[in-house]
Amino acid sequence: LVGSVERHRFVDTALVNQAYEDTSLPIGLGQTISKPSIVARMTELLLGAEGARAGGLGRVLEIGTGCGYQAAVLARVAREVYTIERLRALHEKARDNLRPWRLATVHLILGDGMVGYAKGAPYAAIIAAAGGETIPDAWVQQLAVGGRLVAPMAAAGGRQVLVVIDRTPHGLQQSTLEAVHFVPLKSGIA
Ligand code: SAH
Repeated sequence: LVGSVERHRFVDTALVNQAYEDTSLPIGLGQTISKPSIVARMTELLLGAEGARAGGLGRVLEIGTGCGYQAAVLARVAREVYTIERLRALHEKARDNLRPWRLATVHLILGDGMVGYAKGAPYAAIIAAAGGETIPDAWVQQLAVGGRLVAPMAAAGGRQVLVVIDRTPHGLQQSTLEAVHFVPLKSGIA
């Protein structure tokens, strides 16, 4: 799945020779394209949601568009992808990167993803590519019943861990997975 999206199209020309290594790479403004193995890991976790049918996911929200790579991967498994980025320059870069694919189901939004994106809610899945101290309430509120949220979050000792929250008919279920290294979740648009 991840291998089916040409990653070299999302990085600067100077980094093209590293595009297929399993490392994160700079995309400008101090941000990074996630490493392919973590994109695969998080996408698989989303597909494990209770509400994910054989046909894949319904509406998905991504916080942190970056260069648009994860959004292109999500477009292969979701009916609609809403992806939000707070940095205008990256929002525009993602738009340029994604243009050749003509993905009519990917909606690029310039905004503060801390508040989610209410217009597309409820979501079958929510994925964040930036980590904060906590999981914003808005994300959980915008999750459909049967939906799953996967996001990095601060943990003890300055670490960051991957958190999964499932909205079941009986309430929320949260689990903590492995340590990860994502850029910080910040508020406001810049
Ligand atoms: N999924 C991206 C990874 C980008 S890195 C990719 O495939 O390339 C994470 C991104 O999250 C950064 O571009 C950063 O600017 C953005 N970000 C951080 N806080 C945010 C917020 N509150 N709302 C939207 N985007 C945010």
